[in-house]
Amino acid sequence: MNRQTIVILGTGGTIAGRAASASDNIGYTAAEVGIEQLVAAIPGLADAGPLIAEQVAQLDSKDMSFAVWAKLAGRVNHFLAQPDVAGIVVVHGTDTLEETAYFLQAVCGPAKPVVLTCAMRPATALVPDGPQNVLDAVAVARHSGAKGVVAVCAGSVHTARDVQKVHPYQVDAFSSGDAGPLGYVEEGSLRLLRNWPEADASRAPDATKIMAALDDATDWPHVEIVMSHAGARGAVVQALMQQGVRGLVVATTGNGTVHQALEAALLKAQAAGVSVVRATRCPNGRVLPKPGDLIPDSQGLSPVKARIDLMLRLLG
Ligand code: ASP
Repeated sequence: MNRQTIVILGTGGTIAGRAASASDNIGYTAAEVGIEQLVAAIPGLADAGPLIAEQVAQLDSKDMSFAVWAKLAGRVNHFLAQPDVAGIVVVHGTDTLEETAYFLQAVCGPAKPVVLTCAMRPATALVPDGPQNVLDAVAVARHSGAKGVVAVCAGSVHTARDVQKVHPYQVDAFSSGDAGPLGYVEEGSLRLLRNWPEADASRAPDATKIMAALDDATDWPHVEIVMSHAGARGAVVQALMQQGVRGLVVATTGNGTVHQALEAALLKAQAAGVSVVRATRCPNGRVLPKPGDLIPDSQGLSPVKARIDLMLRLLG
């Protein structure tokens, strides 16, 4: 176990939420309790070594923005560069946790652990899940050899690449799909099932250029997700092209299939210079490419992560 400093960065979420009644798990306001107060209320959290808590943002993660991502990536890189810091825990809302995790892995590619955690119940709940999740996240961040961006929720550890919110209410709301979790946290110990994530050098965009671009968060490339479904039409693509969209991810049916009307519009957009990527809307598996495919696939990334990947590639 690593007994050096763990930095806990607060960004808000349900974990910092307050409801009027302890029995209310859904009628709360997210992002109200400060990170120092949250951390101070968890018994035993600092037993294994020093902690630093810093509030980077205070928002409901459904409203996550590029500006917050840029600031968060900056703080992550700042603290990871300190020799006495073992790792970072990011306290985050569940709604876009998988997007922030993927973003941080792509942009920071950390050689130390960056562990995102969250809660499905507000801090005021009769039985809140946040404190245990934070304890577990700190245990993962202190684990010898831990590295890369992972998420910890309800005792499971997921990689940034695989993690997905799969339930809108239950406490165990995340899954790694058919990849399975990276491991489990059991009474403060990590049971690792596979290797820690490596920074993907072949896919990672030029991090230095990207970090510079992050300073001007308003200028991020316009990339949207469109979904293929019964009765899909091309009008949405035409409207987005009029807005100057630079990239489109199509959430496809099955193995990368797209409704013919939508596909015709996407191929026109592609011919006009818009970057188009196919990502399956199926929660498990990935698009298996075939000879003659006209639109590239996301190489296993979900639609929301394929969007971040495309945005970063357009930035790089
Ligand atoms: N809307 C909340 C958020 O993402 C949900 C949660 O944290 O569970 O911030």
